[in-house]
Amino acid sequence: MKREIRDDYGKHFNMALAYQTLQKYFGHTSFLPLQEDVIKDILLKNDVFVLMPTGGGKSLCYQLPALLLDGVTIVVSPLIALMKDQVDGLKANGVDAAYINSSLSFDKIQTIKSKLLENRISILYVAPERIMLPDFLSFLQRLNISLIAIDEAHCISEWGHDFRPEYRQLKSLKEHFPQIPLVALTATAIPEVQKDIITQLKLADPKIYKASFDRENLFYQVKPKDNAYHQLWEYLKNHKRDSGIIYCFSRKSTDDLSSKLREDGYRALPYHAGLDSDLRTETQDKFRKDDIEIIVATIAFGMGIDKPNIRFVIHYDLPRNLEGYYQETGRAGRDGLESDCILFFSYGDKVKIEYFIGQKEDETEKRIAYDKLQDMLNFCEGRTCRRKTLLNYFGEVYHETNCGKCDNCLEPKETVDGTIIAQKIISCVSRIKERFGVNHIVDILCGSRSQRLIRNRHDTLTTYGIGKEYTRKQWQAFIRELVQLGYLRLDGDRYPIVKLSEKSHGILSEKEMVLLTKPAEEVQIAQKYFDESFDRELFENLRGLRKRLADAEGMPPYIIFHDSTLKAMASHFPQNLSDFQRMDGVGESKLEKYGELFVEEIRGYCKERNIEPKPTSVHSYLAKTTTSTLQETLELYKQDLTIEEIARKRNLAISTIASHIEKLILSGEEISIDKFVDIDKQKQIVRELSIPGSKRWASIKERLGDDYTYEEIRLVSAYNYVRSAAAELI
Ligand code: ADP
Ligand code: ZN
Repeated sequence: MKREIRDDYGKHFNMALAYQTLQKYFGHTSFLPLQEDVIKDILLKNDVFVLMPTGGGKSLCYQLPALLLDGVTIVVSPLIALMKDQVDGLKANGVDAAYINSSLSFDKIQTIKSKLLENRISILYVAPERIMLPDFLSFLQRLNISLIAIDEAHCISEWGHDFRPEYRQLKSLKEHFPQIPLVALTATAIPEVQKDIITQLKLADPKIYKASFDRENLFYQVKPKDNAYHQLWEYLKNHKRDSGIIYCFSRKSTDDLSSKLREDGYRALPYHAGLDSDLRTETQDKFRKDDIEIIVATIAFGMGIDKPNIRFVIHYDLPRNLEGYYQETGRAGRDGLESDCILFFSYGDKVKIEYFIGQKEDETEKRIAYDKLQDMLNFCEGRTCRRKTLLNYFGEVYHETNCGKCDNCLEPKETVDGTIIAQKIISCVSRIKERFGVNHIVDILCGSRSQRLIRNRHDTLTTYGIGKEYTRKQWQAFIRELVQLGYLRLDGDRYPIVKLSEKSHGILSEKEMVLLTKPAEEVQIAQKYFDESFDRELFENLRGLRKRLADAEGMPPYIIFHDSTLKAMASHFPQNLSDFQRMDGVGESKLEKYGELFVEEIRGYCKERNIEPKPTSVHSYLAKTTTSTLQETLELYKQDLTIEEIARKRNLAISTIASHIEKLILSGEEISIDKFVDIDKQKQIVRELSIPGSKRWASIKERLGDDYTYEEIRLVSAYNYVRSAAAELI
């Protein structure tokens, strides 16, 4: 029997009980942002609307109240595969959960129904079309329902991309269950869809919770696409055992690329709408169970993929718009661990997409598609923080100046004085009376003999051939950048014409100076720095153990433990059950079922290698990546400059220098942080870091308050980490 969480007045809760339940069933010690507030409101019997990005922790928002309230929580969920996964996951945590959908036999459904009538099930998942059937409705009326949760609630809206007619019937849910709190959850960022969900479900004066859409653990980067396969291969060779998705433009290219990868020894399979549906399910299942690592797919793949340990999402071809890109990249790193989002960008792809857009009949649709493609290009070409650009696009303000997790922030592109370059371009545009496109201008600057140019007598212009110091590609990049910066503008969709803007004149009259990106040389794909603070070999062993157990139970490995939990084990080396229980993700049920097996494996591993916990991999790993820019910062540090002074001297952001110092500390350089962070603050931060549970920078910062900066927290964390690692070595 559940203990009552509400007091007699229904206004106060025993939140300690909520925390206990969180630990007992889910093995977590703290909540992710907003979860606690949402849960309180649900317990207060309010209707609630929850908007959280993928990986934000939506499920817990209704699963925990389900365990705290008497009666059963009904969850409406659109995909059969997802229901099974969720229920398997809950059962593994010792929760009485079940689902009813068309995959079950009549008898099985009857058994579940009897259990429900006996109040022996806490959470029931149902498909939307079933819940509104008259028979099923009257059955539900006989139950003691505590809460109804609508997962993937955006499926109700025709505005969204995932509209499902079955969801429309949910409109009358409120009439059938006026007294029961409804919670609607979605990850769709479009405001029209959000409004639509609230009106259609007739939520009564709902509490609205919107989490930030920032996915802190995703590393965004855009690489000029050169020899894409080679670039991909270079990346993959350092990520051999990781799960990932590679998105391609066409079905054929997914087939080709996946077979090439297989030839190179990767376990990769294609996925697209042209494949037989059984084969698709089989492929998806192999991916879930870690039997293959890589799916090479068109955008047909992804809906219903709940796999938490997807370590990379690569866009091999340019996505058509930022909505798609964000959603696809969002599938990486649901478990909160560092994951990569890499996009290979080429103008050739842009032309391909334009061709497809050109085939559309509807003029408005066409225009919108061109505009969205332009936003996508701006994102790729931009020099500002990728995260900031993305979040701004979805209407969210991002305040940090350096996110520390995108290519533009980590390796700001070098700039050159571009005033003369800009003058050449702008005066050329003005001479040809703003009537030609990018390529024609490049032709003139590079002194081409193209027919069109000769016909227009553009070889007689004073700007003809004055740009031979750069290649065509470089001139194209300069022009695009000037557009980005507002010194020029583009007019027209498919073959846009380059026009002058108000800002152009400042350049010609030499009143203004402009910085442009230094033409690119090949920049290496940055490797992740912080992910290796665990024993890789032990992690692999634990992964093997997990896979054997999972196969024996016929379940995907992540149902047993998430990668994040295995990594915690591989960095803390718990030697007994009570230490083991401290790992995030180990609740009572899993402790009992798997604790012995895992602890035994860990103990054996430590004994065999004579390991006093020795997480030195960070050092050796980082030693390789110490680059000249880090060296330069190190030199200045040795001259006793402050971070601010180094930043000024190097003309880089303070946060960039702070991240250099952080990497230097982690790479084993002897660096004292006393000069950078006040001693009292250091102590406070160390205290926060030692609290088990969420180690996300954002939650630590939230707890510490505005007096502390991210830079301070990260420096202390790096310092503390290296110091404790060193202590264990002695
Ligand atoms: P969403 O449905 O919003 O995509 P999930 O409910 O799948 O997110 O949760 C995302 C991840 O966060 C899961 O790996 C889950 O185990 C983890 N998680 C959820 N709540 C917590 C918490 N309070 N502490 C730690 N991890 C959590
Ligand atoms: Zn950034």
